[in-house]
Amino acid sequence: MKLKIYNSLTKKKEVFKPINKDKVRMYTCGMTVYDHTHIGNMRTYINTDILRRVLEYSGFEVKQVENVTDVGHLFGDRDMGRDKIEDSARKAKKSAWEIATMYEKEFFETMQALNVKMPTIVCRATEHIKEMIDLIKKIEKNEFSYKTSDGIYFNTSRIKDYNKLSGMPLEKLREGARVEKNPEKLNLTDFALWKFSPKRGPRRQMEWDSPWGIGFPGWHIECSAMGMKYLGEQIDIHTGGVDHIPIHHTNERAQNIAATGHPIVNLWFHNAFLKVEGQRMGKSLGNFFWMKDITDKGFNPLAFRYLCLNTHYRSETNFTWEALDAAQTALNRLYCEVSIWDPLTNTAIKTGCTEYEKEFLNAINDDLSIPKALSIVWNLFKDNQFSTSDKHKTLLKMDKVLGLGIKGVEHLEISEDVKKLIAEREKLRKEKNWREADKIRDQLGERGYLLEDTPEGTIVKGKL
Ligand code: AMP
Ligand code: ZN
Repeated sequence: MKLKIYNSLTKKKEVFKPINKDKVRMYTCGMTVYDHTHIGNMRTYINTDILRRVLEYSGFEVKQVENVTDVGHLFGDRDMGRDKIEDSARKAKKSAWEIATMYEKEFFETMQALNVKMPTIVCRATEHIKEMIDLIKKIEKNEFSYKTSDGIYFNTSRIKDYNKLSGMPLEKLREGARVEKNPEKLNLTDFALWKFSPKRGPRRQMEWDSPWGIGFPGWHIECSAMGMKYLGEQIDIHTGGVDHIPIHHTNERAQNIAATGHPIVNLWFHNAFLKVEGQRMGKSLGNFFWMKDITDKGFNPLAFRYLCLNTHYRSETNFTWEALDAAQTALNRLYCEVSIWDPLTNTAIKTGCTEYEKEFLNAINDDLSIPKALSIVWNLFKDNQFSTSDKHKTLLKMDKVLGLGIKGVEHLEISEDVKKLIAEREKLRKEKNWREADKIRDQLGERGYLLEDTPEGTIVKGKL
């Protein structure tokens, strides 16, 4: 089966055809670094990582470019609110630059803890102001922009299929924009390419000179400018969360068309939202969690990754602490069993479990059916017709996609005193002295050993 991925633009699962034979150019919308990283953000980056790993598993070389939004993203995603980073800086009594640096660092540390691969290129908006100005100049030259008292705006009525990505009727897109009340805009969906620094109120910390006056870039222009700079005028895949479809990505697409005369992105990949207790996360609702809340409670960050893999990327998922607890238990069980499997000292002589590998490949090729792929992993665990070293070889291969840290599981050498206690327990069991036998099991349990009584005797299933 060939690799098929759902394309938000065509609203179909499509056989993936790269522009270059074996190289894939992928652009990932990155974080706005004004606060801690929340669990919803990370669901999107985990699934984007899965996409990248699936492409690599299929033999493609992936060049992944990811931006860091460290300027220009206003509250409300429209063009009238306060700047998220400047606002956060004021509250924390730090500079906007310090805020951006601090949260960017935290974001990439979180990515690492979640086994999300680092992008090939990370690019900050503030380091690409020149590229953005050049792109706005092109858009202006092609007559897709106009000036108002507060900035340079994009005229969305100049794009024939402006609403193609969202598939929403123009009327509905306009309704979303109506809250903003900017009487100078020609169309409700028009958006800022460049905003002038306000003449009144506190002076902005982040502002630059431009052909139109001192100001800062609109939120959408950075992704068009940096995408084209690092990936060229044809990009295979562009990724982000579903919230970006009607505004950010719709506007990015419009800018690309205005500047080059053609769309740039072939496949738009969007990740569905993570909700908490069935609702959209909101600080006022008290259902808002940062990634650090998870680690503060002692969970392995990879348990959150496991939890995310349990739901297909195009389905909404509901976060609960119970579900995270269950994910942690499942992950522990995986680690535990792998620790007693034969270590792979000589993988070359092992064939692995090819049938399972085939099934796994079919699952991931079917629009990244990771929940199915996980169920295949569990079937492999239960299957005793293969040697544990064959299973180990196959699991390590599968984990190149899943990224659950199987490679780091240490082999468990069972010490002499543990072996002695198990033998003693066997003897007690034969004598039907269940009380004493249970005591030994509990004693070993406290030391983290998981025992299983089989018809052939008691075996150690691993150590937690
Ligand atoms: P932002 O910094 O707001 O641009 O968000 C970074 C990424 O996280 C974007 O791709 C968003 O679409 C995504 N995102 C934000 N909230 C959620 C959520 N609750 N569930 C899944 N993805 C989200
Ligand atoms: Zn973007």
